[in-house]
Formats: sequence, C-alpha cells, structure tokens
Amino acid sequence: MPQKLSVRSSLHPFPQGAFGSTHDLIDPIKACDRDTLLIACSELGAAPDNVSILAPERLVVLQHIGASIPSKFECEEYEELSFADVANLFDEYSFRHVIICGHLNCQVIPYWLQPKIETDTDIGHFRRRFENGTRDLVDRSYSQGSAAQRHVLMICEHVLCQIENFLTHPFVMKRAHAKELFFHGWVIDDETARVFRYNFEESVFEAI
Ligand SMILES: [Zn+2]
Repeated sequence: MPQKLSVRSSLHPFPQGAFGSTHDLIDPIKACDRDTLLIACSELGAAPDNVSILAPERLVVLQHIGASIPSKFECEEYEELSFADVANLFDEYSFRHVIICGHLNCQVIPYWLQPKIETDTDIGHFRRRFENGTRDLVDRSYSQGSAAQRHVLMICEHVLCQIENFLTHPFVMKRAHAKELFFHGWVIDDETARVFRYNFEESVFEAI
C-alpha cells in the first residue's frame, strides 16, 4: 500500500465533523477507559490490541467478519442481521470514538471477490451485501487498475462503507451530529503493523 492512497470523496454522504483526528483520539487529557469502540475483522485475533496506538484499557473490541456493520435498512430487510451487539455496548459504555478497522491481509474480502461456489451458503448475506455494496462501488467509481490496486481499494472502501452503514442508525447519527461521537477509518498492514487512517479532509488513507 502506498504511503497515501487517494479515494473519491463524493462516494459517501458523511456529515461534516463525523471523523475525529488522531490527535484528539490519543490526547491523554481527554482519554478515558473504554471510551473507544474498535470493530475489527474476525481474522485479526488479538492484533487490534497489539497494533493499536491506544492503551488497551481505552478499547472495547468487537470482531465481525470483514469488520462488517449492518445498516439500519439491512437489519430491517434481513431478520438474521442485527445491530444489537453494538447498540448494547453503547448502553454500557460512554464511547466517544468508533474505529472501524480493516486489514491488508484480509482473506475474507478476496474470497468474496471470487466467483461464488454453488454449494456455499451465505449466512447473514455477507457476500451479497459486499457485492452490492463495496464491490459495486469500487468497480463503478474507480478506473480499471491492476488487480492489486483494486484489492487495496476494496479493503479501504469497505471500511468507509461500514462507517456509512454505522451512521444509518439514528442514535449514532444523532451523536455524530452533536459532536459527541467521532469515527476513525483504519486499515492495518498486517506485516508491519502500520496503521493507515482515513483523512476525511483530504480524502486519502495515510500512514499514521
Ligand atoms: Zn479480514
């Protein structure tokens, strides 16, 4: 992944101020225990703690397949989808930050990019949601590059699509508008543990 990867700013309807700065995130004066919800891919294991620039006591970690977040509309459409695990944590903790964390060595997203094997079941419609969401968005919005470029864009845009889904839940949008909750889009390089963050103002993913 390059030091800076530009993405198209017009693809997501993010409200102004929805993204927090790294400076604010790591500011020791503002930091409290369990003030940050980190949602990472199930494959990452304990990695989010290891690579994090945050003290482990700051974090509540959830692990979802491909760091997937169902939108309000998906939860209404598919009864097996739920945002309750996230919403319950918001009842329990006073989060000020949410980090959605993808990773470059993800095996889930390349698997979803392969043609579907007929006998595979798609529990939770994860593959279908990826195909109709991130994959369509990348293939429609970016010029044809190499397979490697497409792959990195899929990983990065998937993070932004999940943040977009997150914000469809009314209590989340309300807090983001009130500047009580700030989002951070991260992609981790599994090999170097380097964190690339989404810079909303410049519409790039850049190494922290
Ligand atoms: Zn993964």
